Amino acid sequence: MEIDDDEPLPPSATNETVASNGTPAKFTKKKHRDKDIGIYTVVNQVGEGTFGKVYKALNTTTGVHIALKLIRMEQEKDGFPVTAMREVKLLQSLNQENVIRLYEMLVHCGSVYMVFEYMDHDLTGILSQNQFTFTEAHLKSLCHQMFSGLAYLHHKGIIHRDIKGSNILLNNRGELKLADFGLARFYQKRRRADYTNRVITLWYRPPELLYGATIYGPEVDMWSAGCIMLELYTKKAVFTGNDELHQLDTIYRVIGTPDSHRWPDIGNLPWYELVKPREPHPNRFREMFTKWMSPPALDLAERLLCYDPTKRVTAAEALQAPYFTTEEPQAERPVMLNSNLEGEWHEMESKRERAKKRKKE
Ligand code: AMP
Repeated sequence: MEIDDDEPLPPSATNETVASNGTPAKFTKKKHRDKDIGIYTVVNQVGEGTFGKVYKALNTTTGVHIALKLIRMEQEKDGFPVTAMREVKLLQSLNQENVIRLYEMLVHCGSVYMVFEYMDHDLTGILSQNQFTFTEAHLKSLCHQMFSGLAYLHHKGIIHRDIKGSNILLNNRGELKLADFGLARFYQKRRRADYTNRVITLWYRPPELLYGATIYGPEVDMWSAGCIMLELYTKKAVFTGNDELHQLDTIYRVIGTPDSHRWPDIGNLPWYELVKPREPHPNRFREMFTKWMSPPALDLAERLLCYDPTKRVTAAEALQAPYFTTEEPQAERPVMLNSNLEGEWHEMESKRERAKKRKKE
């Protein structure tokens, strides 16, 4: 795939020559060179994030694939975007097998790129394909890896604030890694500070943020992780609201309406009067998911989707749940992804497939 024309794609370094009088010689654009970014050759685009496009590229000296994230600068009046700066700073302080590795930053002809380890799929993409089905042991491993990554982040004092399928990456060795730290931030472990509640993609946003909370902690990621756990088993997002009120209504219809018994602090939340439930709904969680999940899996998912953030299970506690420690089968990485799956599945490919299907219909 070619890189879009509107992009500030630089000429390759080898094309930019300097005349003997010191002024740059006229650049003659060679098509194939458009794909070269330093030692990397772009293979294709695999993603479109809020802050820039992501490309699969080949390191021509090592023969290893990497991911290049082009940092969007067009709208920036004040130089390097603060969100990207935050992401880089955070990523540079992280080193754990379930968190994406940032290898280096690359400045090439006026454009700035982040160079990451390459991941063959993301969860949204892989759950949308029909060639390969995860076994119970695979699903357990994916959950375990997700909680390990989150336990590491939370221990380091970082809240991710955008856990969702397209930000959870997977490679053909069955390794899962958390990515996209554009909304992540360090939080004060001892003193709860005031943050924005306009974070986390709507479907994965916890009820306290939908009720206007601005004082929150890593529990917000655990709600999102609960949504992901259910999605892994059912292959569908569970709470798919169109707006904030509808999102809450969708949640009420699955786990019932909250009250001061289930969530003592609910009445103190900023938007409580505005968004509180108008009619009661029963908790139908067990009834709805029993056909997909074992009792220990349901127990853990229920502890993740707990209304009261102070009672919600932490990532470290989740790793100690009977679902992981005693229930059979034991977790097993989906290493066979390699031989049983054609192609690479990112949200972008799954969107493309859906569009193709719609066109056919
Ligand atoms: P982001 O801007 O980080 O949200 O990335 C947008 C999309 O690009 C993700 O949903 C992934 O599908 C893809 N992507 C991001 N990082 C990588 C990576 N390291 N390897 C492969 N694909 C990636």
